[in-house]
Amino acid sequence: MNFYDSERMMDLLKPHGYILDDNQDDADIIVLNTCHIREKAVDKTYSELGRIRDKIKLRQQKTGKKSIVIVAGCVAQAEGKEIIKRSPWVDIVVGPQSYQNLPELISKVDPINNNKHINIEFPIIPKFDHLDIDINERSSSAFLTIQEGCDKFCTFCVVPYTRGAEYSRPLTSILEEAKKLVDAGVKEITLLGQNVNAWSATGKEKKNWGLGRLIQELAKIKELQFIRYTTSHPLDMDIELIEAHRDVSKLMPYLHLPVQSGSDKILKMMNRKHSIIEYIKVIEKVRDYNPQIAISGDFIIGFPGETDKDHQATLDLIREINYSQAYSFKYSSRPGTPAVVFFDHVDENIKRKRLQEVQDLLRLQQMQFNKKSINSTLKVLVLKKGKKINQYLGRTPFNQSIYFNSNYNNLIGSTIDITVTDAFQNSLAGIINSDKNI
Ligand code: SAH
Ligand code: SF4
Repeated sequence: MNFYDSERMMDLLKPHGYILDDNQDDADIIVLNTCHIREKAVDKTYSELGRIRDKIKLRQQKTGKKSIVIVAGCVAQAEGKEIIKRSPWVDIVVGPQSYQNLPELISKVDPINNNKHINIEFPIIPKFDHLDIDINERSSSAFLTIQEGCDKFCTFCVVPYTRGAEYSRPLTSILEEAKKLVDAGVKEITLLGQNVNAWSATGKEKKNWGLGRLIQELAKIKELQFIRYTTSHPLDMDIELIEAHRDVSKLMPYLHLPVQSGSDKILKMMNRKHSIIEYIKVIEKVRDYNPQIAISGDFIIGFPGETDKDHQATLDLIREINYSQAYSFKYSSRPGTPAVVFFDHVDENIKRKRLQEVQDLLRLQQMQFNKKSINSTLKVLVLKKGKKINQYLGRTPFNQSIYFNSNYNNLIGSTIDITVTDAFQNSLAGIINSDKNI
């Protein structure tokens, strides 16, 4: 979602004469778009701000140039003026729901008075009403935010506080943006939301639509070939969405469905509002409707009160589901969340050991999943050139990265049948099935 927001910020600033510069040192404006989900992400913000002071600001004292430094995103939302207090060389602090005001905030910066501007409001008119996508520089794959915020209040999570209440973008604005993207050559759209499958809005004939129905509608756009969505919550996997995985061929056979823990006791303390058996049933149903679907997930390791028995339950669940790939993180205590006051903390060494065990198992499953692809022929969207000569990088329907060689000059954006010849931990290698389909 931060990638999506960063692109929108670029689109907003372009009409004001700003272009993207790879070299931070010479930039007129430096925007750090930040994440607050774990402590490590916050630490990174402050260390990057320190680097900007040491490498850029101190040097600029000699040259007289003054880059405008902006902190955007969820750290900005959560920390507010604390950022200016700790890093007085920052000029603007702007939250994820108010960055549509960036041009105005920038125009107010006065290098002589050194005044500061903070905007971390949750506006009544959603930011999407002020955003317009710039269709000029698109790759073949794009993100499209359809939902933001969350009302579920898991006890470990900052999202409801930083991104705000659950909000679904109206159907017309989503369809308009999707069409613009496709007109600009986009072949794959990944629908985004903190709980993307909680999306619901008034559809055609004033009917209430959910994500499954939206996907059906998007699939009607002829040139759009691949549809994905992330991240989903198990409670919001309704039958229409599950049916879409059977009926809509453009919807990719990949589902990212976080569960966080394999223990009912921990799920309860996390306020996840569902049990392990309910999670397993959802996955079974999805697999009933689409047997080849690849399942991914998220796990939090070492939540307060997690015993060895709970940890074993997480390993058991991973074995039972058999993930194609999944993310796992050590629990990170976040200020303002209910779990801050849960005192039964897991020892750091134990957390590290448990995380290692979970990641070893997930890596093994990913390797097995990738190996199963060998000799199969997959429809691959070509995303970019690889590092080697004649090498291209694409993505398989199951969300695997795949490399292949071709003498053709520009295959980016094409959809090509690739036969998988080799499998690695995080990628596949393949050959073009037939030149006929280029
Ligand atoms: N809405 C999604 C998840 C969004 S947050 C869901 O409910 O499943 C993305 C992921 O970050 C979460 O799935 C979780 O695994 C991780 N995460 C969130 N807060 C965390 C914390 N305090 N410590 C460690 N990981 C966390
Ligand atoms: Fe955070 Fe997801 Fe829970 Fe919402 S449902 S509070 S985004 S983990």
